[in-house]
Amino acid sequence: MTIIVFGSINIDLVVTTPCLPVPGETLTGKDFLTTPGGKGANQAVALAKLGIPTHIVGRVGGDTFGVELIENLQSSGLKTANIFIDKNINSGIAIITVEDSGENQIIIIPGANGRVNDEDVERLSHLLPEATAILLQLEIPINTVVAAAKAARNANISVILDPAPAQTHFPDELYPLIDIITPNELEAEKLVGFPVNGEETAAKAAGILLQRGVKCAVIKLGAKGVYCANAEEAFFTPAFPVHAVDTVAAGDAFNSGLAAALFQKLPLRTAVVWGAAAGALATTKRGAQTSLPERVTFDNFLKEKGIL
Ligand code: ADP
Repeated sequence: MTIIVFGSINIDLVVTTPCLPVPGETLTGKDFLTTPGGKGANQAVALAKLGIPTHIVGRVGGDTFGVELIENLQSSGLKTANIFIDKNINSGIAIITVEDSGENQIIIIPGANGRVNDEDVERLSHLLPEATAILLQLEIPINTVVAAAKAARNANISVILDPAPAQTHFPDELYPLIDIITPNELEAEKLVGFPVNGEETAAKAAGILLQRGVKCAVIKLGAKGVYCANAEEAFFTPAFPVHAVDTVAAGDAFNSGLAAALFQKLPLRTAVVWGAAAGALATTKRGAQTSLPERVTFDNFLKEKGIL
């Protein structure tokens, strides 16, 4: 059996500079780095690193980045036969400028990610009979996310949706198609319309999301922890105390830890703890995919904490 990740595949072009340029200014920066990213790719790589057989389905462009991105995913151990190379467009890119103070500017060009459509849902449908779950995020067109969730629901596959990046317009028809929704504080706020910043407001938000039709709401509260509720139970899990250096991809690591535990048929409470462990470990290293824990590191961390 496998897990399917259906979503964005990006290349991040990261420039560091003493200070951000003002409009019209040209300045000389310090370093340039390209790193693979995209929430879909990050979650898929996180699962592969945890040793879970995973298919990634999505699109890259006909540029050299497309080739590099696929090679990177393959070298992480992912099944990539269902990534379509869209020759007429560029691969999804994020141009990120970071100044010494840590302040940044990001421009995303969705490229091929913006063209993921029903044909890709058709391709992923062939994988559903062998899958236990599909992981979705919102960096591809939302109507395609809805179509994928419907296909998965029809095949009795569990749908885990990360409603990221935060959306103001979230289609009502998507809620009842979701088994587990996993917003962070900001994403939860966008969905429910009030600030979510702790256990109490998370409980209120989760109640609303359940009413809208999701089966389970898991609200990621950063360094505070995670609140989880479904029809049977509601509980709070504190974050693991770690020395966090960079929270990029913590949310992606969380979703993969959660999905990995459920793939191994562990109970929801354990799955939330696994998510929190993967999220915490991802904060202890810099970068996106480079910060995602390998299975050995992950198991050792759980053993240290008396969980495995
Ligand atoms: P996102 O990356 O989507 O914004 P969060 O920042 O809430 O999501 O992080 C996801 C999960 O990762 C959290 O719920 C928590 O379990 C873990 N995590 C995030 N930041 C920290 C931290 N500073 N210390 C420990 N765990 C963390």
